[in-house]
Amino acid sequence: MRPSDDRAASEAILLDRAGAKVRAGAGSHTGEAFMLRGGCHCGAVRYEADAAPFHATICHCADCRRIVGAASVAWFSVPRAALRWTAGAPKPVRSSARATRTFCGTCGTSLTYESDAAPDEIDVTTASLDEPERVPPRDHTFLAERLAWDVVADGLPTFARTR
Ligand SMILES: [Zn+2]
Ligand SMILES: [Zn+2]
Repeated sequence: MRPSDDRAASEAILLDRAGAKVRAGAGSHTGEAFMLRGGCHCGAVRYEADAAPFHATICHCADCRRIVGAASVAWFSVPRAALRWTAGAPKPVRSSARATRTFCGTCGTSLTYESDAAPDEIDVTTASLDEPERVPPRDHTFLAERLAWDVVADGLPTFARTR
């Protein structure tokens, strides 16, 4: 969730002969546009993003914990301009002095995080994707704020706060 982060996912974007964005690498079909779709639990709010995700992480910060009601929260980022709401509109909440989060006003699913310091990107909850397996986390952030029983043992890189 910071500009200095690993941009490998973005760098995997290539231009095919037709000029359409395609994702190179495992799990994708050559020539298929990279489109992510997701939404809340009740279906009132839906989104899509036609961009390669980056900064996929599991955040263990206290803000995510309290807002989502979970020990940790998986996120990925896309350019803010790439995310479109295709059904309903999420409810915004100013969750800190520097960030706005959104959630479904009907069922409560947390959907996005927008930092004032990074106006060109938006973080989306990985678990709200229709196919969360497509965007696995690459690291863990804010370990300094994790709960004692929230044990990280998957071998991914860890960071006390941001990367
Ligand atoms: Zn909902
Ligand atoms: Zn967090």
